[in-house]
Amino acid sequence: MLTILQRIVREVNSATNLDEALGIIVRRIKEFMSVDVCSVYLIDKQRNDYALLASDGLDSNAIGNVRLGRNEGLVGLVGERQEPLILKDAPAHPRYRYFPITGEEQFRAFLGVPIIHYREVMGVLVIQRKEASEFKEDEVALIVTIAAQLAGAINHATLDGSIAAILSRDSPECHFVKGLPGASGVAVGTIAVVFPPARLEAVPDRKVTDIEAEERALKTAVARLQEDLRSGSLRMASVLPAEEQALFDAFVMLSGSDTLVADTVRRIREGNWAPAALRDTIAEHAKVFDNMEDAYLRARANDLRDIGTQILIRLQSGSNIKLEYPERAVLFGEYVSVAQLSEVPVERLAGIVCTAGSSLSHTAILARALGIPTVMGLGDISLARLEGREIIVDGYQGQICIQPSAAVRSEYLRLAQEEQELFSGLQGLRDLPAESMDGTRLGLHVNVGLPTDMPAALESGAEGVGLYRTEFAFMIRNTFPGEQEQYSLYRRVLMVFSPKPVSIRVLDIGGDKVLPYFHTTEENPALGWRGIRVILDHPEIFLTQLRALLRANAGLNNLKVLLPMVTRVSEVEDAMDLLERAYNELLQEGHACAKPRIGVMIETPAAVYQIDALARHSEFISLGTNDLTQHLLVVDRNNPQVANIYDHLHPAVIRVIRDVIETTHKWGKPVSVCGEMAGDPAAAILLLGMGVDHRSMAASDLPRIKQVIRSFNKTDATHILNQVLQLDDARDIHPLLTDALDRAGLGGLIRAGKY
Ligand code: PEP
Ligand code: MG
Repeated sequence: MLTILQRIVREVNSATNLDEALGIIVRRIKEFMSVDVCSVYLIDKQRNDYALLASDGLDSNAIGNVRLGRNEGLVGLVGERQEPLILKDAPAHPRYRYFPITGEEQFRAFLGVPIIHYREVMGVLVIQRKEASEFKEDEVALIVTIAAQLAGAINHATLDGSIAAILSRDSPECHFVKGLPGASGVAVGTIAVVFPPARLEAVPDRKVTDIEAEERALKTAVARLQEDLRSGSLRMASVLPAEEQALFDAFVMLSGSDTLVADTVRRIREGNWAPAALRDTIAEHAKVFDNMEDAYLRARANDLRDIGTQILIRLQSGSNIKLEYPERAVLFGEYVSVAQLSEVPVERLAGIVCTAGSSLSHTAILARALGIPTVMGLGDISLARLEGREIIVDGYQGQICIQPSAAVRSEYLRLAQEEQELFSGLQGLRDLPAESMDGTRLGLHVNVGLPTDMPAALESGAEGVGLYRTEFAFMIRNTFPGEQEQYSLYRRVLMVFSPKPVSIRVLDIGGDKVLPYFHTTEENPALGWRGIRVILDHPEIFLTQLRALLRANAGLNNLKVLLPMVTRVSEVEDAMDLLERAYNELLQEGHACAKPRIGVMIETPAAVYQIDALARHSEFISLGTNDLTQHLLVVDRNNPQVANIYDHLHPAVIRVIRDVIETTHKWGKPVSVCGEMAGDPAAAILLLGMGVDHRSMAASDLPRIKQVIRSFNKTDATHILNQVLQLDDARDIHPLLTDALDRAGLGGLIRAGKY
């Protein structure tokens, strides 16, 4: 059972289009279950009905021609009830709907199972038999399992299918593909695909003019692989038995096989660059093996993919291609790394789209700091044919539109214009204080990470930097930066903002923040070696950073240092000991330096329950609501599959923040919020009610948050907070806050502030 299931899923995943994928599903299930019919009905979202898209057993003329309303027939009933429907004699059921074109009257036994992807019914999988007998429990269990497993694969094929239809212009409509909002704003631009090295399936199509150079590059890469394999074989000769030794020879033969090279060359001559030509050739050849009955031969498909990857690595290492970015480039990739982001000249970067990740991923956080409209978590779609296409990025709704119609394009250009006007309108607030209507004054700070953030941060009218994420500067290098280099970086930001305070967070890596040159493999990195744990384990790295910070603060004294991911009081004490040591060393060496104030980030439940001690041991507290929400709700901040339940307005998060603020204030210490919650207009009302002292956010969020603060009384905000604290679920909290913003005439900010 497991083998057949795995086999169907594998075949479906390697299908090149939706029809092919569905064809495989119905054929294999009919064969394996010994039934007379297997069919798939999928929901057509445009027409809001079911369409029979594949069947093995019904008359083939029915495929594509039978359609049922959402509440029509037995298929509609399965979708409505969202559970299996088992009937001994289907034609006798009152909901049975007969279509003569199907020739269905001869089939009595019916089993319909919904295909559900993340709570959404996508279609119905049906099997039928001629004789009137009920399907057995194990048969039902099997079809339920297959439908659940296939939902993801069908979703993937549907997404890819609609994108393929858009690209080939089969579809007259302008399709939007839904993902997650990453950074607000809309952009119209041209796709530049970014992809990780050595991932064959991630390589995009790219047109080439110098065909000969591409052919040469391919042949050199193949020759280099063969050479490497031969010398590997020689090295291993004394330790490997003859049979394994023969594997090397087989690989040498496969990699240089005439058809593999000739097919790739043919594709290059059709105008594609060598990596994409190789990608298609390997996929075509591997599929032949994938479909073989014999398990040994099937496994050869992976050998071929392996060879493809090895040739690709050699192709990539031999090339020095510097991508020319289009004028309004929209970076499109599975992930867009900080390094890839910083390669694009900022004036050319119009938008970002990631098929993975969510609004809390660091790409999205950086995008917000830079004010670049971004869509995340689009799903598992193929990037192969997207390079150079026109695209609309709607960062408010979290959706994209590839090759938009003229009408949709002009609508979005109008929206972008309106957004610009709204933003310019708010710019008038730049020099006004963030003060509530009844006179409560708050500090609004900015979050920064890369030097490119700095101009916007300075322009925003912020009263300081609330979070400088030092790891971003570490991410775009090939080694740890030295003391002098770090000193220049920190000195510059401290000088630029002086005398305003600047909170610099010491290196916070681990979790989803990976340095290319300092890699560890962990099963569960979110709960692993990260934040302050890493730097305390590596005093040589931490001390270098502390020395740079202390020197940068000399004569300016506006530095505050933030400690990330704290779970124990001893971590704060150890960090302070190292700071003291760095300070004494610098004094002894005759360097000018100055001690900063030390703050602790509250990002874990352990820190929340030790807030009393942490507030006592530090000089200020900063709430990192991104990680705090992740850890309180047990929701991975980067996982698009659970993004809909990641919510900083969850009652548990709101209560925890209120308690942390209250306790810290008892010790007479200030509290700041520096997670993305600080830039959310709805949360801004609650934070005003709670009496938070500072908030730090992306520069682009600052004007609207100031507007919210200036539109409310602290007393009213406290009243709203108390109402919210009575509510048991976030789904009641959201409308209450939206309503409050609406009543204050700030409805426009909700769309603009949503991510
Ligand atoms: C946070 O977790 O809220 C935070 C500010 O840190 P980061 O997003 O960099 O993890
Ligand atoms: Mg954090």
